[in-house]
Amino acid sequence: MNVDKDRYFLELAIEEAEAALNEDTYPIGAVIVDDNNNLIAKGRNQVHPHQDATAHAEIDAIRNAGQAILNAKVSRQKFAIYTSLEPCPMCTGGILFANIKKVVWLLNDDLGFGGYRKIKGTNVFDERFNEVELIEEPYADLKNRQMKLMTKWSNNRNNIVNLRSAEK
Ligand SMILES: [Zn+2]
Repeated sequence: MNVDKDRYFLELAIEEAEAALNEDTYPIGAVIVDDNNNLIAKGRNQVHPHQDATAHAEIDAIRNAGQAILNAKVSRQKFAIYTSLEPCPMCTGGILFANIKKVVWLLNDDLGFGGYRKIKGTNVFDERFNEVELIEEPYADLKNRQMKLMTKWSNNRNNIVNLRSAEK
């Protein structure tokens, strides 16, 4: 399990991303795992189905993890989050609040709202960020799968660009 652990959980995250796209929302999925490699929670973007701008995949996974997150804080367990896209500023904050100690994502988000590296780069909350292991884009093939999902999303009727042009 050790060698391919990250890959296994990233595959679960991208399955969630695919489910999100099938629900006509941003193709982003996330899973939370404990330090014994037990799957704690899954999440996916639900912005459009729930009409909630904050319903991001990482926040959804953290909410679904529920009490387990609080228990992990008490017992100092090290949870990891695997997500298909670099977390935005809101989810970066959520990850720090949830005391998650490892973040792995499939695709950097330089064009959209990717925030993790930007906030980390400003040297704020250093003590928090320094406790979190970060792995970016570890698998080219899975990264490519996520890029294809993002391309499909750009053509989706709920994409904001397409919603705007439909207004005209
Ligand atoms: Zn987010």
